[in-house]
Amino acid sequence: MIERVFILKANLLQTAGGRIHCLRCTARSSRTGDQCGRPALKVSKNQKCQYHGGRGSGPKTEKGIARIAAVHTVHGQATKAARAERSLASARLNQLEDAMHVLGMTTAVRSRGRKAQGYVPVKTVADVKRMVIDDFLHRNKGSVEEQEKINRKTHRP
Ligand SMILES: [Zn+2]
Repeated sequence: MIERVFILKANLLQTAGGRIHCLRCTARSSRTGDQCGRPALKVSKNQKCQYHGGRGSGPKTEKGIARIAAVHTVHGQATKAARAERSLASARLNQLEDAMHVLGMTTAVRSRGRKAQGYVPVKTVADVKRMVIDDFLHRNKGSVEEQEKINRKTHRP
């Protein structure tokens, strides 16, 4: 609690002899490490003064957004595409488990918990057939890498 009060005081500023209370710029000097002493702009999302990017609103163009995303991407495991791919694989695994139970291949305990997005329960043998046919028709179209491989093969002269 004491630390929180300290942080709040550091982020507030009194000017005009204590008559004006405002937010303080949170930028720190790279040379001395001291906090900037200017009031933060009211329009600033990140509580910065006009000299430390308080008016900035982030990248707007596609190129700029892509550049910032590339800078902040460490390993790509948490990108939208990677999550969608994992979710699809998880749903697929649950459907395969359903198919095994429908076909009598196992009597193991069903996996518990929430099913992934895109999961359609497989309840009958007809559903299993439909799943296999669908899998054959749309083979390897789920993952981004596989789709790129297919594109490379088809665009080769
Ligand atoms: Zn500043």
